Amino acid sequence: MIPIAKPLIDENEKSRVMEVLDSGMITLGETVREFEKAFANYTGADYSIATSSGTSALHVAMAAAGIGPGDRVLTTPFSFIATANTILYCGGTPVFCDVNGDDFNLNPRSIRKALDEYDNVKAVLIVHIFGQPCDMDEIMEIVDEYGLVLIEDCAQAHGARYKDKHVGTFGLAGTFSFYPTKNMTTAEGGMVITQSEEFFKRLKRIREHGMSKAGAYDYTMLGYNYRMTNIEAAIGLAQLEKLDGFNRKRAENARYYDKNLSDIDWLSIPVVRENRVHCYHQYTLKVQQRDAFAEHLAQNGVGYKVFYPALIPDTHIYRKMGYDGSRYPIARSLTREVISIPVHPGVTVEDREKIVEVIRNFKPLPGEK
Ligand SMILES: *Cc1c(COP(=O)(O)O)cnc(C)c1O
Repeated sequence: MIPIAKPLIDENEKSRVMEVLDSGMITLGETVREFEKAFANYTGADYSIATSSGTSALHVAMAAAGIGPGDRVLTTPFSFIATANTILYCGGTPVFCDVNGDDFNLNPRSIRKALDEYDNVKAVLIVHIFGQPCDMDEIMEIVDEYGLVLIEDCAQAHGARYKDKHVGTFGLAGTFSFYPTKNMTTAEGGMVITQSEEFFKRLKRIREHGMSKAGAYDYTMLGYNYRMTNIEAAIGLAQLEKLDGFNRKRAENARYYDKNLSDIDWLSIPVVRENRVHCYHQYTLKVQQRDAFAEHLAQNGVGYKVFYPALIPDTHIYRKMGYDGSRYPIARSLTREVISIPVHPGVTVEDREKIVEVIRNFKPLPGEK
């Protein structure tokens, strides 16, 4: 089976981890700070702090932005559940907006509609889904017009750029995940980047129980233990050096699929909107008869995954809170059509040839959708 994701770890990661283990300084310390600096440098951000996961990165960013009870936060229903959950962690209220049917990202017109409809909107939490940047010009215009806080969930978008500017540097904060399936990994881990020194100081405090100064045991705000370890940072430093190479491989695989699948009338390949660098966290097709197609892939040794089979507002927990995914018809219809195929840097030339051949052999039943 050609897997849908595969972390690529070699001697580089191993020797750096061994160095940290031998040093005896295994949790947050110099290696984490080195990784933070390298990541800020890579994205062009002024400040960065590493955290224990992509979810905790989002949570500290939302908390540091002051999201609390009574605050509404606009976000996408078509994402991993962590995105909206971090609004709930802070006591805020997620308000979902519909997405674009072609690039799966938040639709700026739906954001405007929600702003007309709801009071007390404090922030917009966007997700650069599957590695393609959102419509940043339109979104920045709205954020400026309404004086909103913008947070970018870049968990799937390491290295993605809009008009040559890295995602995560448009808003007050950009957050990343280093889970093993992402474009780079630290096993578990996350990062927040920002251009604001004051915001950076708040992030740092909240990451360590709200402590005013390291070792001071004086707590000025509610915080958590969201530290990254030196062990994880050691993996991250090795992975960051390879990120551009990984992303180049992903783009090559994507170009190959684009070229060899675009003529098929029962599927559509992912669009790449202008002015952006898509980092292909996923290569996501829209297909008719998705379930039969998925079955065909599995039977022929091609791994796949449906991101996402249900909208966040259609999950059990959100339905109990009164949400209903039928209010987002475009996003809802995507959940029945999308399927992601292996595009990661571990996919070889032979793998991708086989994947195209298997896909082209699928025969949809006539007349069925
Ligand atoms: C992976 C992911 C997260 C959460 O990251 P973890 O490191 O798994 O906590 C958040 N948002 C999106 C869009 C993701 O893909």
